[in-house]
Amino acid sequence: MAQADRYTELINTPIGRIVQKQIGLPAPVPLKRWTPGDRVVDGRVLIGGAPGGRLATTLAKVAASIGAEASTPLREDLRAAAAAAGLDAGPWTPAAAATQRYAALVFDATGITEPGQLSELREFFSPTIRRVAKSGRLVVLGTTPTATRSASERIAQRSLEGFTRAAGKELKAGATAQLVYVEPGAEDQLDSTLRFLLSSRSAYVDGQVIRVGSGSDVPEIDWERPLAGKVALVTGASRGIGAAIAATLARDGAHVVGLDIPALEGDLKAVTGSLGGSALALDITAAEAPREIAAYLKKEHGGVDVVVHNAGITRDKTLGRMDEARWDSVIEVNLAAVQRVTDALIAGRSRAVLNQGGRIVCVASIAGIAGNFGQTNYATSKAGVIGLVDAYADTLAARGATINAVAPGFIETQMTAKIPFATREAGRRMNSLSQGGLPVDVAEAIAYFASPASTGVNGNTVRVCGQSLLGA
Ligand code: NAD
Repeated sequence: MAQADRYTELINTPIGRIVQKQIGLPAPVPLKRWTPGDRVVDGRVLIGGAPGGRLATTLAKVAASIGAEASTPLREDLRAAAAAAGLDAGPWTPAAAATQRYAALVFDATGITEPGQLSELREFFSPTIRRVAKSGRLVVLGTTPTATRSASERIAQRSLEGFTRAAGKELKAGATAQLVYVEPGAEDQLDSTLRFLLSSRSAYVDGQVIRVGSGSDVPEIDWERPLAGKVALVTGASRGIGAAIAATLARDGAHVVGLDIPALEGDLKAVTGSLGGSALALDITAAEAPREIAAYLKKEHGGVDVVVHNAGITRDKTLGRMDEARWDSVIEVNLAAVQRVTDALIAGRSRAVLNQGGRIVCVASIAGIAGNFGQTNYATSKAGVIGLVDAYADTLAARGATINAVAPGFIETQMTAKIPFATREAGRRMNSLSQGGLPVDVAEAIAYFASPASTGVNGNTVRVCGQSLLGA
């Protein structure tokens, strides 16, 4: 937890807990975060599903591969799949569930084809949701609404968003809820998404909807070092969230090329040096920057596998007082330069600097979704980043590559430490986890997108905001 969040420290003392309960203050708990060597899930996973679902085999396989101690309810195909995957799936009844603690509840809702069947959700989660452990997980899996076969199925599947988001708001003690829409035919693409969402790597991701489609074949990877042998470019890497992204991708095995403005070359070299990476000092808005970045990556590394567009600036003023320089600089750094650099890296198709199977990850912001007072320039640029992801997803999919975005909420950095106390406290607490996230939380979401196993994860914008009330 960040040093500056004294409230969370205080509220977790015995006296703090008494005061919190008596006057109904928010009750943040320190979130569990992943460290190398940790298991994906520590504890029991309860797997359920509506009749006719298509993910029984996938779920049983993933549960077995992560070494989960799994239970499956009485649905016959789920039990058979669990047994086939070698899982010890003990008998399950709602009454028995009420006596257990679960590290995760996973529900295959793909069998729900009309609204009347949504009651399956209540039947499964009502006796179990209060049994979710501290920092536990609730994951619902559905069918992408646009890929359904009837109006009723589409309506019922769309309903899952409301269910999952509301359940996320009811979970306590650092537990989170997510919905994954799986396209028909993409059942074998789920591994990286489930591992991310079930583990403490997704500590500050809450109330999100992720779409998984049919990408290219999922390669066999070492889950401890999924980026071994890969080259990753991270812009704005000298500090804050960028430095955390660089460290996380290096932990996952990548050679990191950190980029930042020439004025910060010293700090940049300190970051990349400590990670065994390389430093590239340039301003991404310079006219020659796209060509120079492309040429450097081609010459030094033969190409690039992962590109993280993290560099960003704010120049806040209300619209009535917004001068041209503030407006232009924010659009240039946060959006226009991102597009130019992307174009330079993907130009030339088969000879492109972005390698086959490449990954591009943009850093947007919840301000780009909800808007924010005094940030018309910033919100415009960050909404544009989400548009860039939408616009490029199909082009990249055609080359076995992907593009996604993270949209951070309140993240504890030097930038947010400077916000006046009252505004800072509001930003920090106005989310389901009642606390700010850490730079590493954004970095873990980026590492998930960057994984070679995330080939079917394309065109998503995932918020890392603890289910912020803003623009929810
Ligand atoms: P930061 O200011 O600490 O870091 C941004 C980095 O980008 C700096 O090192 C800066 O020098 C670099 N940079 C800026 N302009 C550049 C340019 N023209 N060329 C090359 N490098 C340049 O900010 P941060 O809080 O770490 O934010 C990182 C990203 O996350 C940004 O895109 C920001 O908009 C986004 N974000 C942050 C938060 C938050 O709460 N901190 C919330 C939402 C989104």
